[in-house]
Amino acid sequence: MKKNDCVFDAAYQASYEYLKELNERDIMPTDAAIASLKSLHIPMPDDGQNDVDVINELHEIGSPNTVASTGGRYFGFVVGGALPVTMAAHWLSTVWDQNAGTWILSPIAGELEDVAGKWMLDLLDLPRDAVFGFVTGATMATFSSIAAARSALLKRKGFDVKKSGLFNAPKIRIIMSEEIHPTNIAAFGYAGFGLDQIEYVPVDEEGRIIVDEMPELDDLSIVILQAGNINSGSFDDFDAVTRIANDAGAWVHVDGAFGLWARASAEKKHLTHGIEKADSWSVDGHKWLNLPQDSAIYFCRDGDAVNDVFGVTATYLMRDQNRQGNNYTPELSRRARGVEFWAALKSLGAKGVAEIVDRSCYHAVTFTIGLKEMGFTVMNDVVLNQVVFAVDDQEKTKAILEHVQNSGVVWLGPTTWKDKYAMRISVSSAATTDIDVRKSLKVFERAYQKVMNGNE
Ligand SMILES: *Cc1c(COP(=O)(O)O)cnc(C)c1O
Repeated sequence: MKKNDCVFDAAYQASYEYLKELNERDIMPTDAAIASLKSLHIPMPDDGQNDVDVINELHEIGSPNTVASTGGRYFGFVVGGALPVTMAAHWLSTVWDQNAGTWILSPIAGELEDVAGKWMLDLLDLPRDAVFGFVTGATMATFSSIAAARSALLKRKGFDVKKSGLFNAPKIRIIMSEEIHPTNIAAFGYAGFGLDQIEYVPVDEEGRIIVDEMPELDDLSIVILQAGNINSGSFDDFDAVTRIANDAGAWVHVDGAFGLWARASAEKKHLTHGIEKADSWSVDGHKWLNLPQDSAIYFCRDGDAVNDVFGVTATYLMRDQNRQGNNYTPELSRRARGVEFWAALKSLGAKGVAEIVDRSCYHAVTFTIGLKEMGFTVMNDVVLNQVVFAVDDQEKTKAILEHVQNSGVVWLGPTTWKDKYAMRISVSSAATTDIDVRKSLKVFERAYQKVMNGNE
């Protein structure tokens, strides 16, 4: 056996140990683990090292320095875990090391994207003839959609932005709510728009855009709506806004980074009423679908606009009638993201996806009831998987959060909601069980007792 033959065994062993310990360990790295990171900082080595040793070192230093976000008690940000089948599919496709840029570079990458994208149009009940691109995250999904919107709106005015750029283009207007996720603003920046161009619309008490306060739309307007406010989980009124926007010839994009999955649930689909009348939609795979990181998709009604923006042609790229991945994404060479989408959807089925959504929302309700009983104020209407809560005294909320974060058992982060410091739970890992929720509630209870009543 050559010295490198065991490198996969080493990775397998390390992965197995990691997953076995995941639910017992502290959610955050210990101080000792963080201190060990220093040992990584050695000068660039002259001599190489045995591959197995490299993997073992990665496990020894790396694994304890991860955040246990694939476990059941990580509720910070909106992160999502990773279903075992998607990790395994990710492994295999890593060994394939396919370049998903064009079909001839990887027929399997192209076909799995094609199949998974169409399945998602069905599952999310979006226009079946929409095109789709597999990108790194919702930020790039929105950026890609905006680039298509820019191209399409200007083309309708007889202006070719690809050829002439934005400098002398008719002015595009950007309309979004005051409660917009900041990555949408960033995405407009990447697409060549200035922040001063944004027209912000006030929101109601759940962070939904107030339709009556929207400015008049025209055929050079791009409106961003949200399916799933990052704090409250609320949904904008898609039906009302798309009605106005469609009449005006405006473009509506939906940031549905996690909330678009509500559409897969019979219980939650009503929240997305009218969403299918938008022009483009973003959704993460790496959040609520529980794919490994670096996975999102966007859908766009206007396939010509998408291809116009992204299509790269050259004789050596050898295009044929098959799906050319790079026609839909800012990158040419990239990994085969369709693999894990396909594996998740095949393993779960439509019912399994709905079950993840419903179970997460059910856990959010259990949290809400438990937290209210303890004396916390739940500040949002818990319509989805997000719970924002606090006590009246902001300093005490801070102290409680610190206790919870230091528990090692459960982790969540702070937010500002209605100008108040608060804590936020996002139930978006499929690994979360009833037991995890119960354990977490106990930690909240202990922290509450300690800070509010001085009880140990
Ligand atoms: C996470 C998130 C984003 C950004 O998505 P990335 O995958 O991190 O690029 C955008 N909008 C909302 C509502 C989100 O939750």
